[in-house]
Amino acid sequence: MLEEILQKIDNEQDLNKEDLVFLLGLKRREDLEALYHRADLYRKKYAGEEVHLRGLIEFSNYCRKNCCYCGIRRDNVKARRYRMPNEEILSTVTLAEKLGYRTVVLQSGEDMYFTADRLVDLIKRIKQQSDVAITLSIGERPREEYERFFKAGADRTLIRFETSNRVLYQKLHPDSDYDERMTQLKWQKEIGFQVGSGIMIGLPGQTMEDLAGDILKFKELELDMVGVGPYICHQDTPLKGNDNGTVEMTFKVIALTRIVTRYAHIPATTALATLRQADGRERALQLGANVVMPNVTPVEYRSAYELYPAKVCIYEDAEKCHGCIHGRIFSIDRPVSKGYGHSVWPG
Ligand code: SF4
Repeated sequence: MLEEILQKIDNEQDLNKEDLVFLLGLKRREDLEALYHRADLYRKKYAGEEVHLRGLIEFSNYCRKNCCYCGIRRDNVKARRYRMPNEEILSTVTLAEKLGYRTVVLQSGEDMYFTADRLVDLIKRIKQQSDVAITLSIGERPREEYERFFKAGADRTLIRFETSNRVLYQKLHPDSDYDERMTQLKWQKEIGFQVGSGIMIGLPGQTMEDLAGDILKFKELELDMVGVGPYICHQDTPLKGNDNGTVEMTFKVIALTRIVTRYAHIPATTALATLRQADGRERALQLGANVVMPNVTPVEYRSAYELYPAKVCIYEDAEKCHGCIHGRIFSIDRPVSKGYGHSVWPG
């Protein structure tokens, strides 16, 4: 069966759910390398050689929601909460631009202190002062608000669905609704945003069928960016005591996401680097990924933005991260993009 599916990949035929479940179950090193090699060829053909850098600014860790896996969920009283003042967000964007990042990702919990008016003002000021694309990763908001953010100049959104198994989704997200999440993703695209989403690998209760369904969902949604990272258990959440996701399964999902979606930008995530510090990101870039998101959040806040524990890169300042990331990318002979890194979907 493996030969048959690899042939399908070589012929650029679509893979079905059964194919994906089979490939997700591969264990032998040579079989995995055969898959990863093909994912790398697809990456080269559809997404190019360049690695795109997105400067990540975690500007608030307040959140009104209670996702069961998340270290900054509303009910975690141990989380040290912070909000960056506007002027500090703006100076951090300036620093990101100085470091050569042509995209900034403004990320927060669902923090309603940042009203639509405040965010519109912030987006406009960023666009006035800096030549960068803006990704908003701020959770669910009414459509009218996202329309205002788009008009103000925001380019992209990032809102993960974590799993396409709606029963599991409901279990993990007691105060969110699966259909609402999917609806938000659809109309964000209608508004004109380049839309990103993603999943976690190894969530308690998740199966390989679920992961295969997730990968097909990425394609159905025509996502411009797909983030795939391992689940890392946080002890101050209702899921404490569960096992982490594995690096190998994360690699398989990244490779298959590349093969199935072809054009999606795929980041080599920090969560992956956390579980495999030596070369997690480099390996991901060699089996389908083409984006890295260096953290530019001021160091004093980083440890408080603890979605999961033992996160890497929380003590290094933005300049250090910049040097480290460049070194890692050059070590695998890949160039760093100087452009905005917009979507590469045709048309
Ligand atoms: S995952 Fe996002 S929405 Fe859910 S609790 Fe964490 S920060 Fe809030």
